Amino acid sequence: MKVDFHVHLEEGPYSLDWLLKQAESLRPLVEHAEVKGSRKWASMLTNGLAERLQQGPYSRDWLELYRLRAKQAGIQQVCVVEHLYRFLEYRSYYEQHVHIGSDRLGTAQRKWLSQVANDSLDSFVVFLQKERLRWAEDGIELRVGIELDYFSGGEETLRHVINQYPWDVCIGAVHFLEGWGYPIQDARERFGRQELIGLYSLYFDKLEQAIESQLFDVIAHIDGIKAFGVRPDETALLPYYQRVARALGRMGIATEINTGYGLASQLREFSPSYRFLEILFQNEVPITLASSATAPDQVGQQLDEARAQLKRVGYTSFAVYEKRKRSMLALD
Ligand SMILES: [Zn+2]
Repeated sequence: MKVDFHVHLEEGPYSLDWLLKQAESLRPLVEHAEVKGSRKWASMLTNGLAERLQQGPYSRDWLELYRLRAKQAGIQQVCVVEHLYRFLEYRSYYEQHVHIGSDRLGTAQRKWLSQVANDSLDSFVVFLQKERLRWAEDGIELRVGIELDYFSGGEETLRHVINQYPWDVCIGAVHFLEGWGYPIQDARERFGRQELIGLYSLYFDKLEQAIESQLFDVIAHIDGIKAFGVRPDETALLPYYQRVARALGRMGIATEINTGYGLASQLREFSPSYRFLEILFQNEVPITLASSATAPDQVGQQLDEARAQLKRVGYTSFAVYEKRKRSMLALD
């Protein structure tokens, strides 16, 4: 069975690139209606884009594109997870833990937070719960989860989010180190100044704390720090990989093979790296399949290759979740 357990319906900031990506996603809708490249075609696309922005990401028209893509790719389970930082209700959680001082990088991070947070968590959950039936009629199971940023001292807030809704899966992530976010373009400068092994060790320490908090079912993109572009010689990281894999094994927590995350970095590989994946297998850590799509045409991207990689290291099954209960499906 094919699944994609990490799909986002929207992700800011809202740049010209973002607009272009959205327009790309809407293209199939106008392809047959108008001659490509004609002014009418451009006009239809523009109207579609305006409508998409007006309706926001939690609208049936937008979700339909995800369903159609999943159907086309033969995917039978899709789990939509959104980043907690996208929701206005939790803006203060991020303001509390992310460095938003008045210095240049602090200002850039404050700006980023205000750009990405636009929607209400409630409307996300209510909308997706309603759409499940429609997907089920099409033979696709729609699951609903959340991707939560772990900060030391933020456990109580996260516990509240976790208990507030009937999540299918709660994914924990470390996107921020000592208040600095490596997915934030401007803040990456900050990481570039740090000694690499020290930075990676800080990252894996934080990850271990996230695992030991026992808040999460799955830990996302487990060597995600590499997304900022640089990694020390991997041999030096093996003891850290071992430690993290042992912690996951001990706590019975899964991680994912994420095709989108690592590929976006200069390293051009999935997350985790192949060597990390081997160590996870030795420690019997369950794995979910994740595209981390942020647009419909990315649903399921390169997951066939991810499955092949899992098999190559020895996995015979992968994990899926429903109401936070894990089951294992055969890798066929
Ligand atoms: Zn993430």
